[in-house]
Amino acid sequence: MSERTNSPFTATVLGAPRIGPRRELKRAIEGYWAGRVDAAELEATAAGLRADTIAQLSAAGLDSIPVNTFSYYDQVLDTAVMLGALPERVAAISDPLDRYFAAARGTADVAPLEMTKWFDTNYHYLVPEIGPDTTFTLNPEKVLAEVAEARTAGVNARPVVVGPITFLALSKPIGAGSPLDRINELLPCYLELLRVLAEAGVEWVQIDEPALVTDIASGLPALAGSVYSALAQASARPKILVATYFGDAGEALPALARSGVDGVAVDLIEGRLESVVDVPELSRLHVVAGVVDGRNIWRTDLEKALATLGTLLGSTGSLAVSTSCSTLHVPYSLEPETELDDNLRGWLAFGAEKYTEVATLSRALTGGREAEAAAFDACAAALATRATDPRVHVDAVRERLAAVNDADVTRGEAATRLAAQNERLDLPALPTTTIGSYPQTSAIRLARAALRKGEIDQAGYEQKMRDEIKSVVDLQEQIGLDVLVHGEPERNDMVQYFAEQLDGFFATVNGWVQSYGTRCVRPPILFGDVVRPRPMTVDWITFAQTLTAKPVKGMLTGPVTILAWSFVRNDQPLSESADQIALAIRDETVDLEKAGVGIIQVDEPALRELLPLRNADKQAYLDWAVRAFRLSTAGVEDATQIHTHLCYSEFGEVIDAIAELDADVTSIEAARSHMEVLDDLNSVGFANAVGPGVYDIHSPRVPGTSEIETSLAEALKAVGPQRLWVNPDCGLKTRTTDEVTEALTNMVAAAKSVRAGT
Ligand code: GLN
Ligand code: ZN
Repeated sequence: MSERTNSPFTATVLGAPRIGPRRELKRAIEGYWAGRVDAAELEATAAGLRADTIAQLSAAGLDSIPVNTFSYYDQVLDTAVMLGALPERVAAISDPLDRYFAAARGTADVAPLEMTKWFDTNYHYLVPEIGPDTTFTLNPEKVLAEVAEARTAGVNARPVVVGPITFLALSKPIGAGSPLDRINELLPCYLELLRVLAEAGVEWVQIDEPALVTDIASGLPALAGSVYSALAQASARPKILVATYFGDAGEALPALARSGVDGVAVDLIEGRLESVVDVPELSRLHVVAGVVDGRNIWRTDLEKALATLGTLLGSTGSLAVSTSCSTLHVPYSLEPETELDDNLRGWLAFGAEKYTEVATLSRALTGGREAEAAAFDACAAALATRATDPRVHVDAVRERLAAVNDADVTRGEAATRLAAQNERLDLPALPTTTIGSYPQTSAIRLARAALRKGEIDQAGYEQKMRDEIKSVVDLQEQIGLDVLVHGEPERNDMVQYFAEQLDGFFATVNGWVQSYGTRCVRPPILFGDVVRPRPMTVDWITFAQTLTAKPVKGMLTGPVTILAWSFVRNDQPLSESADQIALAIRDETVDLEKAGVGIIQVDEPALRELLPLRNADKQAYLDWAVRAFRLSTAGVEDATQIHTHLCYSEFGEVIDAIAELDADVTSIEAARSHMEVLDDLNSVGFANAVGPGVYDIHSPRVPGTSEIETSLAEALKAVGPQRLWVNPDCGLKTRTTDEVTEALTNMVAAAKSVRAGT
């Protein structure tokens, strides 16, 4: 297979996970950081994982194997290294690996690159900085090494690199001008890359341009046309496959098809088949058809996928079967998931299962369905149970949802609510509070581990959590906060905690996916209609309330955030899943209220994360997201105060939506943007109370009282004392108790002094 062939490849994936089936890479890298693992050992672990991936993909029957998809931290950072575009501040670090990790995570002296979400996935990339000092020089060592390694393994390797448009479109400008203006300076690097890859005997190179399915910059289709015409004219080069994914490449497709490149990869899960079929020029190209969902965990309907491929046959030069994007976003394999029942197992496909699907479809495309009848029949039988399983369609849920009307998503007038709440709660001006979590102490971690190992029973575990709640309540009393929380010790994660208690969700045992660097998450799988069998938080909150005369806030996660951090259903619109979760959260708020809880916070930190990539789709999303939040929170009386919490800054595109949530109090990340968000909220007429974060909890630095006073004075210019709450930027679970005690003591002192002056 390592020999060059004239007919293009037939079966592939656009990339694969790298963290290791048992998170081996995470452990090796963290060991290296801690000084327990040396560079040679780390590289040996990495090489082993790369070899395993190559062997796995090749054994599954793929005839073109993506390489250079491995990364010690992030593929965008790898691209910045390849292009010689790391910021000046890390240049002095002479060891390349340490320089790389310094750019990723910072050191005592050097700030890291910023991190942000990779399109609409839960993967986070490091944001390259492009400024007047940035120059570009090619460093192809990594990609060449991975090509050579795959060659030794005897496979047909296809190196993958992030493309110039996507690289610049995702970069942060330093100083004036847009990074995309620098495209002509960057192209020589890519031309040189093509030359060295050709020299290394590479037949196909995959250049990733997911930016082409978005509207992050104007004129992207035309830019794609000119950039790829220039690259296609390289005197020596491999065949170029431009990969678009996470959506529909739209107008960029004909531009690419005319540019002279040899192939395009298209996402047929989130993109439209017509976008491909309608481009006559594609009849001269190799089209890599993403018919197997690379980022969600559902089994492919082989019958439907084969029909799609059949349609494409007539309008493409040649055709390969692929996943829609890299399988970086799904767990390695279903095999360790021993808790799955047969039905559910039959509906799912993780990485390994997807590779088999791709190979099966590719064989069926050439050999006919009959040759693969066993696989097709097994697939059809498994998927048939999905339509009839009683957990997937729960009539009571659907009937209740159908009956929801405008009154169910509308609370009383804000002013009326405020009056009722003031009378009930009797809080001082500028009330002080926190966002929910307190430090995840070693006592909490030990108790969770002991429960898992069976060393303590559920009752013993719950007692330890109550001890923890008591100490957090005592601490807050002692600090003098006005509205207390229970501290969330019982929550491993703000989404998984609820998913574990709601019917319709499944929590995997080993379904880890990379979130960023060495951080992995295990998103729950939403597979059925959502039913809340019993209250989820009432016992904890009411217990906390017995310990204090101050009000204790109930603490819930909102429907959008639960969806954003889960694998979601693909058999109904997201909005419907959101509404189902909203009903469960609504029932919880009503139960909390019945139990005497006067303040309930429904967190929506992920509100911005589900924003569609195309501008035209954004408003419809915001409409249903806001409605789902309101459905979650409008079941309570006027006198019950609803809070929400939002973070991860950059609220611009969702600022109207935040106002429309109509929470009584909105706590919002603001410390890093110097309270600017308050002016934005004012500009859309938001008149409810807000708690702009007065200090950044992401840093271990403890803010001084006068510094917080300055922030509050700043905030008071934008919102009067009647509307202002005082709180940190986000939850405190990553901080130490000492840091928290000192910071909150200063925060309360600052609030008191500013209060006295109003
Ligand atoms: N209530 C959560 C906490 O305090 C909110 C976390 C978040 O916004 N990401 O931890
Ligand atoms: Zn937050």
